[in-house]
Amino acid sequence: MSLNESSKRDENTDSDERFMALALEEARKAAAIGEVPIGAVVVSEGRVVAQAYNRREIDHDPAGHAEHTAILKAARRLGRWRLSDCTVYVTLEPCPMCAGLMHQARIKRCVFAAYDPKAGALGSLYDLHDDERLNHRFEIGTGVLQEESSRLLKDFFKDLRGREKKPVVCEDIHPVSREEVAKRPAWMKAPALAEGTLTSDVVYEGRIFNVEELTVQLPDGKTGRRDVVRHQGAAAVLAINENDEILLVNQWRSALGRVECEIPAGKIDPGEDPRDCAIRELAEETGVVAGRFEYLTTFDTSAGFSDEALHLYVARDLEQGPANRDEDEFFEIQWIDFEKALDSCLNGQIQDAKTIIALSVWGHKRCRG
Ligand SMILES: [Zn+2]
Repeated sequence: MSLNESSKRDENTDSDERFMALALEEARKAAAIGEVPIGAVVVSEGRVVAQAYNRREIDHDPAGHAEHTAILKAARRLGRWRLSDCTVYVTLEPCPMCAGLMHQARIKRCVFAAYDPKAGALGSLYDLHDDERLNHRFEIGTGVLQEESSRLLKDFFKDLRGREKKPVVCEDIHPVSREEVAKRPAWMKAPALAEGTLTSDVVYEGRIFNVEELTVQLPDGKTGRRDVVRHQGAAAVLAINENDEILLVNQWRSALGRVECEIPAGKIDPGEDPRDCAIRELAEETGVVAGRFEYLTTFDTSAGFSDEALHLYVARDLEQGPANRDEDEFFEIQWIDFEKALDSCLNGQIQDAKTIIALSVWGHKRCRG
């Protein structure tokens, strides 16, 4: 190696470390918002033209990888798709998607810090930078600030395991799916008891339900009238903390002319999964975020005149955060010992149906283990 080559290499190593340090700064931004810490910068002729960090979770973007975003940004800034003068610095070996994009962008070089034996496409699982079947090849540089990048990733995952709160673990299998309805026993659909609907008129359109007036044909051939409340359905949450206390909200109920003591609940938005509704209502009303959600049961709130179904969930591994209530919602929040709450169902202090059902069904379920 001539002296010239040697000094050129040192210069390259110096600038590689300098740019990788910038990529690591990007990776730390990702860690700060709970994303897997991976960062990238794109450099053209010694100048940073784009930088980005992994934002897959926060943007709900399967392509939100750091180097993917950085390459797209660089192309827009440079006003061209062909980046044949660019080096991409990234803190973890690129995946096949990102290596594919590097190929499409005709980059000159990719330098990464740590190898990714599970998904890497520049040496680990594939050699997409050096495949003679493809019409472009690019150089790679490896191991630059590898220690720092690996430590950042390790610390992040260690911290995540330590918290064990997120992401939410959901143990339920929703029981009222179409498949389950189809499997309902024949007696539930018994033609001998069925009433045929002859006419139906919407006589009231409200904010949270509609009222329909039905004329039905009874099994003996005569006709009858039914008033039916049509409701989107609702979800409610029995939130239990580590002291075996449950979360109750005291809320004025105009229909009753008094305060009702209830578990948090809310109406399902059209098309919303009941479980998502339960998670949302709990967080909005009380600020409580649960690490674990378990489906409990579904019940028909008032089968005599309404099609409203209410889905019950149990929430545990709770963490208190800020509430975000609707403007017209006023509550008091209280934590009550589970057994005391059950007693309150017997002495009339708790009279709310969903709360009584949640406490008794959960009490039964946990007795059975
Ligand atoms: Zn990727």
